[in-house]
Amino acid sequence: MLENQRKSKDGRKLYIESYGCQMNFSDSEIVASILLDQGFQTTPDYKEADVIFVNTCSIRENAEQRVRNRLKEFGAAKLRNPGMIIGVLGCMAERVKAKFLEEEKLVDIVVGPDAYRDLPNLIRQVDDGQRAINVILSREETYADISPVRLNSNGVTAFISIMRGCDNMCSFCVVRFTRGRERSRDPESIVREAEDLFRNGYREVTLLGQNVDSYKFKDSSGRVVNFANLLALVAEVNPELRVRFSTSHPKDITDEVLHTIAAHSNVCNYIHLPVQSGSSRVLKLMNRTYDRDWYINRVDAIRRIIPDCGISTDIITGFCSETEEEHQETLSIMDYVQYVYAYMFAYSERPGTLAAKRYDDDVPEDVKKRRLQEVVDKQRAHSALRLQHQVGKVHKVLIEGFSKRSDKDFSGRNDQNSMVVFPVTGNFKVGDYVNVIGESCTSATLIGRIVS
Ligand code: SAM
Repeated sequence: MLENQRKSKDGRKLYIESYGCQMNFSDSEIVASILLDQGFQTTPDYKEADVIFVNTCSIRENAEQRVRNRLKEFGAAKLRNPGMIIGVLGCMAERVKAKFLEEEKLVDIVVGPDAYRDLPNLIRQVDDGQRAINVILSREETYADISPVRLNSNGVTAFISIMRGCDNMCSFCVVRFTRGRERSRDPESIVREAEDLFRNGYREVTLLGQNVDSYKFKDSSGRVVNFANLLALVAEVNPELRVRFSTSHPKDITDEVLHTIAAHSNVCNYIHLPVQSGSSRVLKLMNRTYDRDWYINRVDAIRRIIPDCGISTDIITGFCSETEEEHQETLSIMDYVQYVYAYMFAYSERPGTLAAKRYDDDVPEDVKKRRLQEVVDKQRAHSALRLQHQVGKVHKVLIEGFSKRSDKDFSGRNDQNSMVVFPVTGNFKVGDYVNVIGESCTSATLIGRIVS
């Protein structure tokens, strides 16, 4: 959930709540920027808002259900304040379109991810007594010229959207339909955003795209900038600015990208490389365009070129026709890679996707869940093992804030993205880099103390 408070001219109050991927959270910062320019101010309390926006996710059925439940709560607030405007933004708006206005009577505005510039106009339409919708997808929109308002920010880490949409055809996935065709943002505007952030005290940026490895932009002189080039450009903004990125695609991640990571000490040694399944047959059905051997080859390249790189992943259990042996292949690829972290899901059929059209969703729900639990248990063991390896070593940590449990402890992350907690000492403050020796760990956190 994202909220923030900013002062501005005429004080109509905006509340934004975001669900789903980092890209959605980043988009909400674009939306806030567009509306603050119109005189809105943001509020952390939806009950006092004039406009409520929910930035939605369609990736799994339960993500959509959560939004519908939340809309009921907003509906109750609207009954008390009939002038309140409720808008649905993002992927679910794009997927459900005008039907949203029929199904959810309390919703006034439906806006897809490429139509946020139209929001002031859509709000005016609602002010005039109509309901408003714009779900037109674009081949060009990247919001490159809009400077995001950092919502709920720790003042140290920020997202930068480097591209939009997705051209992959993963058979399980709705993103292609809800976010449109892939387009890359002008690298100059990306570097400028990173420079502005650094000047304002930020010390880490995460470059976001559905598939960052296919980033490609032809500039006015005809030079083609690929993801490796972009990574180097952002890393060169300042050696004190950490650079992370997400998501990498196994079919597209090149050795050039890996060498660029290795060559820049401020590009973090951490790659999120979704595998989805360890079985080549299932990967083919998923239309992932790589097989088990190809994925293993990419992992071997990462280990060779960036020896201490943390690798995380996404895994889907119980995809159409997945057998018990194929599920075992997923468990065995997990043993091979030993991921530092994983996002794990039971397959959820999404209307309109290739899989929904072509294949039976035939793995029983209890089998999907049991396989998911086996994957979760294995990942828990691997995460713990990975953290134990980090005990006794010194880590460069960027202080991001205080630990959730106590303001006597700082928290931050090391290069490999592990959460590190350590006592507040000396004159160190949020935004500083410190060397921390790992002394022990819980299942998800390294615990240590500052050594310099
Ligand atoms: N663009 C990235 C990629 O291609 O790997 C990730 C996109 S998606 C926003 C994040 C993750 O959600 C996917 O990697 C996948 O594991 C999961 N996911 C997507 N569709 C799903 C579905 N229908 N059921 C279950 N999990 C799904």
